[in-house]
Amino acid sequence: MHAVLPPTCLACRKPAGASGGLCSQCWQSAGFIERPYCERLGTPFSYDSGGPLISPAAFADPPAFDRARSAMRFSDVARDLVHLLKYGDRLDLVKPFATWMMRAGGEILHEADAFVPVPLHWTRLFQRRFNQSAELSRAISARTKVPVIDDALTRVRATPPQVGLAREERAKNVHGAFAVEKAMRAKVKGKRIVLVDDVLTTGATANACARILRRAGAARVDVLTLARVVDPA
Ligand SMILES: [Zn+2]
Repeated sequence: MHAVLPPTCLACRKPAGASGGLCSQCWQSAGFIERPYCERLGTPFSYDSGGPLISPAAFADPPAFDRARSAMRFSDVARDLVHLLKYGDRLDLVKPFATWMMRAGGEILHEADAFVPVPLHWTRLFQRRFNQSAELSRAISARTKVPVIDDALTRVRATPPQVGLAREERAKNVHGAFAVEKAMRAKVKGKRIVLVDDVLTTGATANACARILRRAGAARVDVLTLARVVDPA
Protein backbone atom coordinates (compact mmCIF):
# COMPACT_ATOMS: atom_id res chain seq x y z
CA MET A 1 0.00 0.00 0.00
CA HIS A 2 1.34 3.44 -0.75
CA ALA A 3 0.02 6.75 0.37
CA VAL A 4 -1.08 9.21 -2.31
CA LEU A 5 0.73 12.42 -1.60
CA PRO A 6 -1.13 15.64 -2.24
CA PRO A 7 0.45 17.63 -5.09
CA THR A 8 3.02 20.15 -3.88
CA CYS A 9 3.76 23.61 -5.26
CA LEU A 10 6.60 23.59 -7.82
CA ALA A 11 8.04 26.77 -6.31
CA CYS A 12 7.59 26.49 -2.54
CA ARG A 13 6.67 22.81 -2.05
CA LYS A 14 3.65 23.64 0.08
CA PRO A 15 0.51 21.67 -0.71
CA ALA A 16 -0.95 22.91 -3.97
CA GLY A 17 -4.27 22.50 -5.68
CA ALA A 18 -5.06 19.63 -7.98
CA SER A 19 -3.50 21.19 -11.05
CA GLY A 20 -1.54 24.13 -12.40
CA GLY A 21 1.57 23.24 -10.45
CA LEU A 22 1.66 26.24 -8.12
CA CYS A 23 -0.07 26.91 -4.81
CA SER A 24 -2.56 29.75 -4.92
CA GLN A 25 -0.13 32.12 -3.22
CA CYS A 26 2.70 31.47 -5.68
CA TRP A 27 0.26 31.53 -8.59
CA GLN A 28 -0.86 35.00 -7.52
CA SER A 29 2.63 36.38 -7.03
CA ALA A 30 4.05 34.72 -10.16
CA GLY A 31 2.50 37.49 -12.25
CA PHE A 32 1.33 35.64 -15.33
CA ILE A 33 1.14 38.02 -18.27
CA GLU A 34 -2.23 38.54 -19.92
CA ARG A 35 -3.45 40.92 -22.60
CA PRO A 36 -3.42 43.87 -22.97
CA TYR A 37 0.28 43.89 -23.72
CA CYS A 38 2.51 45.46 -26.34
CA GLU A 39 1.99 43.29 -29.42
CA ARG A 40 5.65 43.76 -30.32
CA LEU A 41 7.52 43.49 -27.02
CA GLY A 42 4.97 41.52 -25.02
CA THR A 43 5.22 43.93 -22.09
CA PRO A 44 1.94 44.19 -20.17
CA PHE A 45 -0.04 47.42 -20.07
CA SER A 46 -1.76 48.50 -16.90
CA TYR A 47 -4.83 49.71 -18.80
CA ASP A 48 -6.88 48.49 -21.74
CA SER A 49 -7.41 50.99 -24.54
CA GLY A 50 -9.40 48.46 -26.53
CA GLY A 51 -7.26 47.86 -29.62
CA PRO A 52 -4.02 46.21 -30.63
CA LEU A 53 -1.26 48.17 -29.00
CA ILE A 54 2.36 48.93 -29.61
CA SER A 55 4.20 50.42 -26.65
CA PRO A 56 6.15 53.69 -26.93
CA ALA A 57 9.29 51.69 -26.08
CA ALA A 58 8.80 49.50 -29.17
CA PHE A 59 8.53 52.61 -31.36
CA ALA A 60 11.45 54.41 -29.75
CA ASP A 61 13.82 51.47 -29.88
CA PRO A 62 12.43 48.79 -32.23
CA PRO A 63 13.73 45.31 -31.41
CA ALA A 64 15.53 43.13 -33.97
CA PHE A 65 12.92 40.42 -33.36
CA ASP A 66 9.32 40.61 -34.53
CA ARG A 67 7.31 39.71 -31.44
CA ALA A 68 8.17 38.58 -27.94
CA ARG A 69 5.89 36.65 -25.60
CA SER A 70 6.53 35.51 -22.04
CA ALA A 71 4.46 33.49 -19.64
CA MET A 72 5.17 35.52 -16.53
CA ARG A 73 6.90 38.53 -15.08
CA PHE A 74 10.35 37.92 -13.65
CA SER A 75 8.89 37.95 -10.14
CA ASP A 76 10.47 36.37 -7.06
CA VAL A 77 8.54 33.22 -7.84
CA ALA A 78 9.81 33.19 -11.44
CA ARG A 79 13.36 33.80 -10.20
CA ASP A 80 13.08 30.85 -7.80
CA LEU A 81 11.62 28.60 -10.49
CA VAL A 82 14.32 29.44 -13.05
CA HIS A 83 16.98 28.97 -10.40
CA LEU A 84 15.61 25.54 -9.46
CA LEU A 85 15.71 24.47 -13.10
CA LYS A 86 19.16 25.82 -13.90
CA TYR A 87 21.08 25.14 -10.74
CA GLY A 88 18.88 22.65 -8.91
CA ASP A 89 18.67 20.17 -11.79
CA ARG A 90 14.90 20.24 -11.49
CA LEU A 91 14.19 18.99 -15.00
CA ASP A 92 10.69 18.05 -13.84
CA LEU A 93 9.94 21.77 -14.12
CA VAL A 94 10.42 21.78 -17.89
CA LYS A 95 6.99 20.33 -18.59
CA PRO A 96 4.91 22.81 -16.57
CA PHE A 97 7.06 25.69 -17.87
CA ALA A 98 6.38 24.51 -21.42
CA THR A 99 2.65 24.48 -20.70
CA TRP A 100 2.74 28.08 -19.47
CA MET A 101 4.90 29.16 -22.41
CA MET A 102 2.56 27.52 -24.91
CA ARG A 103 -0.33 29.42 -23.42
CA ALA A 104 1.61 32.68 -23.73
CA GLY A 105 2.93 31.81 -27.20
CA GLY A 106 -0.51 31.57 -28.84
CA GLU A 107 -0.32 33.03 -32.32
CA ILE A 108 3.46 33.01 -32.66
CA LEU A 109 3.46 29.23 -32.14
CA HIS A 110 0.71 28.89 -34.72
CA GLU A 111 2.86 30.58 -37.33
CA ALA A 112 6.16 28.95 -36.37
CA ASP A 113 8.27 26.75 -38.67
CA ALA A 114 10.97 25.93 -36.14
CA PHE A 115 12.29 26.54 -32.63
CA VAL A 116 15.80 27.73 -32.00
CA PRO A 117 17.10 27.62 -28.41
CA VAL A 118 19.48 30.33 -27.22
CA PRO A 119 22.73 28.39 -26.89
CA LEU A 120 25.05 28.21 -23.92
CA HIS A 121 28.76 28.38 -24.53
CA TRP A 122 30.16 24.86 -24.38
CA THR A 123 32.16 25.64 -21.25
CA ARG A 124 28.97 26.57 -19.45
CA LEU A 125 27.10 23.64 -20.93
CA PHE A 126 29.85 21.42 -19.58
CA GLN A 127 29.42 22.83 -16.06
CA ARG A 128 25.65 22.70 -16.10
CA ARG A 129 25.18 19.54 -18.18
CA PHE A 130 22.06 20.81 -19.94
CA ASN A 131 20.85 23.93 -21.70
CA GLN A 132 17.56 25.04 -20.17
CA SER A 133 16.50 26.77 -23.41
CA ALA A 134 17.05 23.59 -25.41
CA GLU A 135 15.08 21.57 -22.84
CA LEU A 136 12.19 24.03 -23.03
CA SER A 137 12.31 23.99 -26.86
CA ARG A 138 12.16 20.21 -26.94
CA ALA A 139 9.22 20.06 -24.52
CA ILE A 140 7.21 22.60 -26.54
CA SER A 141 8.20 20.88 -29.79
CA ALA A 142 6.96 17.52 -28.51
CA ARG A 143 3.52 18.98 -28.04
CA THR A 144 3.25 21.40 -30.96
CA LYS A 145 5.10 19.17 -33.49
CA VAL A 146 7.07 22.23 -34.56
CA PRO A 147 10.67 21.00 -34.98
CA VAL A 148 13.69 22.29 -33.08
CA ILE A 149 16.74 23.26 -35.12
CA ASP A 150 19.49 22.20 -32.72
CA ASP A 151 22.68 24.18 -33.05
CA ALA A 152 21.14 26.72 -35.44
CA LEU A 153 22.94 29.27 -33.29
CA THR A 154 26.43 28.81 -31.94
CA ARG A 155 27.90 30.73 -29.08
CA VAL A 156 31.25 31.68 -30.54
CA ARG A 157 32.41 33.54 -27.49
CA ALA A 158 31.84 32.87 -23.79
CA THR A 159 30.30 35.98 -22.30
CA PRO A 160 30.40 37.06 -18.67
CA PRO A 161 27.00 36.65 -17.00
CA GLN A 162 24.58 39.47 -17.86
CA VAL A 163 23.49 39.76 -14.23
CA GLY A 164 24.24 43.17 -12.77
CA LEU A 165 24.95 44.82 -16.12
CA ALA A 166 23.07 47.86 -17.39
CA ARG A 167 21.23 47.82 -20.72
CA GLU A 168 24.12 49.28 -22.75
CA GLU A 169 26.67 46.97 -21.20
CA ARG A 170 24.46 43.96 -21.86
CA ALA A 171 24.23 44.78 -25.55
CA LYS A 172 28.01 45.20 -25.73
CA ASN A 173 28.53 41.99 -23.76
CA VAL A 174 26.65 39.82 -26.28
CA HIS A 175 27.79 41.67 -29.42
CA GLY A 176 29.41 39.14 -31.75
CA ALA A 177 28.75 36.32 -29.27
CA PHE A 178 26.49 34.33 -31.61
CA ALA A 179 26.82 32.93 -35.11
CA VAL A 180 24.93 30.74 -37.57
CA GLU A 181 27.44 28.23 -38.91
CA LYS A 182 27.59 27.94 -42.68
CA ALA A 183 26.17 24.41 -42.59
CA MET A 184 23.13 25.62 -40.65
CA ARG A 185 22.17 28.48 -42.97
CA ALA A 186 20.07 26.36 -45.31
CA LYS A 187 18.01 25.13 -42.34
CA VAL A 188 17.30 28.66 -41.16
CA LYS A 189 16.69 30.31 -44.52
CA GLY A 190 13.10 31.37 -45.18
CA LYS A 191 11.90 29.96 -41.85
CA ARG A 192 9.67 31.60 -39.29
CA ILE A 193 11.73 31.01 -36.19
CA VAL A 194 10.74 31.11 -32.56
CA LEU A 195 13.77 31.81 -30.42
CA VAL A 196 13.39 30.17 -26.99
CA ASP A 197 15.01 31.28 -23.75
CA ASP A 198 14.24 31.15 -20.03
CA VAL A 199 14.31 34.86 -19.20
CA LEU A 200 14.14 38.01 -21.28
CA THR A 201 15.77 40.89 -19.43
CA THR A 202 16.70 43.89 -21.58
CA GLY A 203 16.35 41.88 -24.78
CA ALA A 204 20.06 42.23 -25.57
CA THR A 205 20.53 38.48 -26.09
CA ALA A 206 17.27 38.10 -28.03
CA ASN A 207 18.22 41.03 -30.27
CA ALA A 208 21.71 39.71 -30.90
CA CYS A 209 20.32 36.26 -31.81
CA ALA A 210 17.50 37.69 -33.96
CA ARG A 211 19.93 39.86 -35.92
CA ILE A 212 22.17 36.90 -36.68
CA LEU A 213 19.26 34.63 -37.64
CA ARG A 214 17.87 37.30 -39.96
CA ARG A 215 21.24 37.75 -41.56
CA ALA A 216 21.20 34.00 -42.18
CA GLY A 217 17.90 34.43 -44.04
CA ALA A 218 15.21 33.71 -41.41
CA ALA A 219 11.85 35.05 -42.62
CA ARG A 220 10.89 36.17 -39.14
CA VAL A 221 12.15 35.78 -35.62
CA ASP A 222 9.76 35.75 -32.68
CA VAL A 223 10.84 35.21 -29.10
CA LEU A 224 9.25 33.02 -26.44
CA THR A 225 10.50 33.00 -22.86
CA LEU A 226 9.24 31.69 -19.56
CA ALA A 227 9.70 35.03 -17.82
CA ARG A 228 10.54 38.60 -18.65
CA VAL A 229 11.63 41.61 -16.67
CA VAL A 230 8.90 44.24 -16.62
CA ASP A 231 9.83 47.76 -15.52
CA PRO A 232 7.55 48.90 -12.72
CA ALA A 233 6.87 52.07 -14.76
ZN1 LIG B 1 3.85 27.90 -3.63
